[in-house]
Amino acid sequence: MGQEITASGESEALDTTFEAGCIFCSIARGSIPATVVRQTERTLTFRDIAPQAPAHLLVIPKTHAYANAAELAAGNPGLAAELLREAGVVATAEGLAEDGYRMVFNTGDYAGQTVFHVHLHVLGGDPLGRFGVPADAAAGE
Ligand code: 5GP
Ligand code: ZN
Repeated sequence: MGQEITASGESEALDTTFEAGCIFCSIARGSIPATVVRQTERTLTFRDIAPQAPAHLLVIPKTHAYANAAELAAGNPGLAAELLREAGVVATAEGLAEDGYRMVFNTGDYAGQTVFHVHLHVLGGDPLGRFGVPADAAAGE
C-alpha cells in the first residue's frame, strides 16, 4: 500500500480495493485497454466506449470500494472532491468549459447504472438534450 496526503494534509493508506470481473477495475489496472486521457494516484479518466456526446469521458477512483457517488461521498469525501476536480480539469483540457458541459453520476437501476464502480460522466462538445426524462417518454420522442 502506498501513502497519500489528503486535502486536509493527513496521510492515509492508498485504497487498492479490487474486484475481479469489474470492467473499471480492469481498466484501472491496465488489463483491459481504454483511451486514458489523464490520471492521478487515486483517479483515472478515460473515454467512454459508447459516447453519448461528442466528448464523453469517465472519471473513476482506482479503488472499487464505492459503488456510487453517495457511498463515495459518505466514505471518502476527499476522494469524491478529487473526482469532481478531475472532471473540471479534463473538461477544460478538452475545450468543453467555455460552452458548458454536464457531469452525471448514475445511481442504481432506474438511472441506468450498469457498472457498480463509481464513475463520473463528463459530457459535452455540443448542446445536450434534456435529462431526467422517463425512459418511456424518451423512447417516444
Ligand atoms: P453507467 O450506465 O453505469 O452510468 O455508465 C457506464 C458507462 O461505461 C457507459 O457509458 C458505458 O458505455 C461505459 N463502458 C462500459 N464498458 C466499457 C469499456 O469496456 N470501456 C469503456 N471505455 N467504457 C465502457
Ligand atoms: Zn471496480
